[in-house]
Amino acid sequence: MKFCSSPYRYQRRATREVRVGNPACGGVIIGGQQPIVIQSMITCDTMDTAACVRETLALAAVGCQLVRITAPTVKDAANLKNIVAELRAQRCHIPIAADIHFKPEAAMEAAQWVEKIRINPGNFADSKKFLTRAYTEDEYAAELERLEDRFAPLVQICRDLSRAMRIGANHGSLSDRILNRYGDTPLGMVQSALEFTRIARKYDFHNLVFSMKASNPKVTIEAYRLLAAKLEALGPDWNYPFHLGVTEAGEGEDGRLKSAVGIGSLLGDGLGDTIRVSLTEDSPHEIPVCRELIEQVGLLYPSHSEVTGVSQAEPPLSFDPFMYASRPAREVAIGPDLRCGGSQPVRVIVTRAVADEWGRNSIPKEKTIPEAVYDDLLVAELDPRKDFATPQPGQLVTVKDDPGLAPVAAFRLLAARLKAGGLDNPILLKDGLVSAGANSESRGTLYQAAIILGALLADGIGDAILIRGERKATPAVRLAYNILQASGCRSFKTDYVACPSCGRTLFHLQTVTANIKARTQHLPGVKIAIMGCIVNGPGEMADANFGYVGGAPGKVNLYVGKQPVKFNVPEAEAVNRLVDLIREHGQWVEPESPTSPAE
Ligand code: SF4
Repeated sequence: MKFCSSPYRYQRRATREVRVGNPACGGVIIGGQQPIVIQSMITCDTMDTAACVRETLALAAVGCQLVRITAPTVKDAANLKNIVAELRAQRCHIPIAADIHFKPEAAMEAAQWVEKIRINPGNFADSKKFLTRAYTEDEYAAELERLEDRFAPLVQICRDLSRAMRIGANHGSLSDRILNRYGDTPLGMVQSALEFTRIARKYDFHNLVFSMKASNPKVTIEAYRLLAAKLEALGPDWNYPFHLGVTEAGEGEDGRLKSAVGIGSLLGDGLGDTIRVSLTEDSPHEIPVCRELIEQVGLLYPSHSEVTGVSQAEPPLSFDPFMYASRPAREVAIGPDLRCGGSQPVRVIVTRAVADEWGRNSIPKEKTIPEAVYDDLLVAELDPRKDFATPQPGQLVTVKDDPGLAPVAAFRLLAARLKAGGLDNPILLKDGLVSAGANSESRGTLYQAAIILGALLADGIGDAILIRGERKATPAVRLAYNILQASGCRSFKTDYVACPSCGRTLFHLQTVTANIKARTQHLPGVKIAIMGCIVNGPGEMADANFGYVGGAPGKVNLYVGKQPVKFNVPEAEAVNRLVDLIREHGQWVEPESPTSPAE
């Protein structure tokens, strides 16, 4: 199965153009050779027309090209008419997408007023019961017929009114039918979308975009790659564009890094025609992040004609692009009490200059510390395009600078060559391959590092990482650990899955997230989900240990794993009850100081 034309040379996946509105009058085209479209979602109540208009105008003003608004009920969907009319009256022609869960009738209403409909195939025609039961072939076929009865009317209205549609599968909110057959897996997400696509195609509707979002960047990457490969196998007219996103990424640097790892990695594979960065912040903050990711990927992945050095006979990948596994590497000593490779955590290596600065200003009790100095390690710097001398068995290897290849391609090639030669040396990843001096600090440092290192770590490549783009010691070390945490490779602080909020949100996400973080950010290995509602089901909290979920206005439900254990907790008490729950389950430790070192 092929998910891109070559994992060693950038080439954007060939897709058809999907029109959202009239491009001559503010609409956009997603796919084809068009630039990647930037989009976001407003967060206010859909019945509050003035707020919706205000938030949409604010997004348009910072360069957002497509705005999504939730339509939880038919009444909300009907109010889209007023929102769109007011926007157009104010000469704002940005296309609007309606976000639909559970309610086909809301989708039918919304399709009359907005340019695009997003459906979730996991809940469009299925009310979630989370029942586990076996489906016979006949029962499964009957389910698909029921699906067609529910979905075909929407397809027909979208086709007749020239609307676009996103079939947006989410990890953790798949139908019982799909869960039963494929599990909560990237394959389940892909099959779920394909079931709906077959119905759309049967009614000759092709103005479709796909998304495969998860809060875990690795799952996100696997699902999109698998979808690309399946569509490629189905034939050239299954060339529907992709909407990329890592859902519930959270806020601040962590949310940006998670998004950079997931979205940046996929863009580098040539996948993706429109992107949304989901941050638990005011939605206009998402737009510069989208822009930065697109710009950095453009710089990091030169067009395939410019890449030299990989012969026509490209070596097979060292990893399975559809299923994460860490590359088997020999465990070696890299210090008196420090080992790397094997089952060791991915190590944080620093330059001599960073180590010296760190030594001068070291912070007592700091948990994120440099673990070794590059210059002390005798790392073998190899040119993966050429035959190289066999490194010593205990030696770390890396790619030499200026290899004439994009960094991700260069390290993939190195891993492939090592595997072909039967070599299992641990690999040290670098955040860039431009020789010293040229790779100076820039505003792109954080994104570049996350895109390069995150993509490779998600491929299972890398036993240690070195940040060179950031020269100051504390930010360089913090960035290294934060990238490892965002990539799911190492946990040094609490991990948060926080939804970006929308018109369904039952509490103020940003305030609550800040309150929860203030109490719990010192718990390495603990993952907490903060969700404004439970529309997509508890599965969407991914593998969180604890969940804080809007149950009703002013009321919160608390989860342990995917199990709700406390219902309708008054919001004023809910953070304390969450801490109690973490204590009861033996995962609480007292913070060392009121200001935890975790960033
Ligand atoms: S989980 Fe958050 S973003 Fe998703 S529908 Fe609920 S409130 Fe909206």
